[in-house]
Amino acid sequence: MTLIFSGNDFKYELESVVKLFIPATLFDIYYDIKTEYFSGDYCFIRRKKGKEKSCLYTICRIDGKIKYKIKRILNLTDNYEGSCEIILARLLFMCMSELTGKSAKWGILTGIRPVKRINKMLDSGMSKDEIEKELSETFLCDKEKIKIAYKTALTQKKALENLSSNSFSLYISIPFCPSRCSYCSFVSQSVESSIRLIPEYVDRLCDEIAYTGNLISCNGLKLDTIYFGGGTPTSLEANQLEKVMNAISRHFDLSSLREYTVEAGRADTITRGKLEVIKSCGADRVSINPQTMNDNVLKAIDRRHTVKQFVEGYTLAREIRFNSINTDLIAGLPTDTVESFKNTTDEIIALDPENVTVHTLSIKRAADLNRRSDTVIDNPAEQMVDYASKRLMESGYNPYYLYRQKNMLENLENVGWSKPGKESLYNIYIMEENQSIIALGAGASTKLVARNGHLKRIFNYKFPLEYIKHFDIMLEKKKEVWGFIEKNIL
Ligand code: SF4
Repeated sequence: MTLIFSGNDFKYELESVVKLFIPATLFDIYYDIKTEYFSGDYCFIRRKKGKEKSCLYTICRIDGKIKYKIKRILNLTDNYEGSCEIILARLLFMCMSELTGKSAKWGILTGIRPVKRINKMLDSGMSKDEIEKELSETFLCDKEKIKIAYKTALTQKKALENLSSNSFSLYISIPFCPSRCSYCSFVSQSVESSIRLIPEYVDRLCDEIAYTGNLISCNGLKLDTIYFGGGTPTSLEANQLEKVMNAISRHFDLSSLREYTVEAGRADTITRGKLEVIKSCGADRVSINPQTMNDNVLKAIDRRHTVKQFVEGYTLAREIRFNSINTDLIAGLPTDTVESFKNTTDEIIALDPENVTVHTLSIKRAADLNRRSDTVIDNPAEQMVDYASKRLMESGYNPYYLYRQKNMLENLENVGWSKPGKESLYNIYIMEENQSIIALGAGASTKLVARNGHLKRIFNYKFPLEYIKHFDIMLEKKKEVWGFIEKNIL
């Protein structure tokens, strides 16, 4: 497929629109016009500027069939460049939809954070009707998606009412897992191959916690939420978890803490001893993630635990009285069917967790699944996601964060659902980028939000071995965090 841009350079946005319809293609991209570019499949995207008006048009050809769309716009239009980009995206979307017979429920909203746009519209004073009209007519979004995204924005507004400007969250990375699931692309080292690194990793992580805690105590920032992710934090033994969590309570003031989550994602890592340590060290929220309640699907994705182990882990967490339990599900897993996914949804709702996160499978380049030729994913993820949304809403859950990723099946989304008042603040912050997150450990990335809304990201070393080996260099580099905080946040 060839993309030819003339009179504009909206490549990034418009290429994303074409990818909605033909995802796995590398495009030939040109910014001039030559006859040979028009010999095969192409999209010709042109802005021709006249004296008073500009003519915007797209001509697309696939398998010999051609569609074109045209729109004129005044050169003096407010936000002329932005308007041209949106109109061309819309024209291109319509041509491609007609040619391929496909649609995309998020329309030309190709970014990963559609709710951020709605939050901005709400902040500018737009009414519900105006927002719905804009999303539907300008961005071509589907009504159901608008409903969920709008509801998400409202839930967030309420949850963020008491957000203080000098607060921050702490992310602790434990990048180890007992084995690797086939769809996963996270930097997670399987415990089998890297178990020997864990003790030293825990020591360095405690050093980073002490270093960070001392600096924070000097500048008056208030710790709002803590999130242990990975990987699977419960890959650590109970005494190792205790060591890390004790280091946090020793070096940080937890008196302003409103939420403390430890992911206990893989049921095969959960023991009563670990959950008791997590609870006694102050965490009030755990995430236990079955992904599916079908043992055959668990086998197909190389996730080495059973449904029974998940239910046992979940029951233990209930007995230990965590304030909130999250369960992650994935729609579109290999070998799963709509019926089986409906059953998964119903079984999870029957367990009554405070949070349910419904992901749509996204196959990343680094995932084993992407390299395996025997994997055929042949299930309508959209029907699964629609069923889960309907059932969760009927059961009293509200959507509270929503995001999209590259390569998601059917261009769908991930949605966090919550019982009222049980929304995870950390998940909102990470998605909506409204609070700084200081991240510690290998693979962790600190995200600082300045007073003017600008973002700065600072990355730790990716792998545990690099993190351990170059620890001092990394701490030196992290001085940037404090410089940025002093200038832009305090
Ligand atoms: S448990 Fe989670 S992080 Fe670990 S390999 Fe599986 S999907 Fe990846």
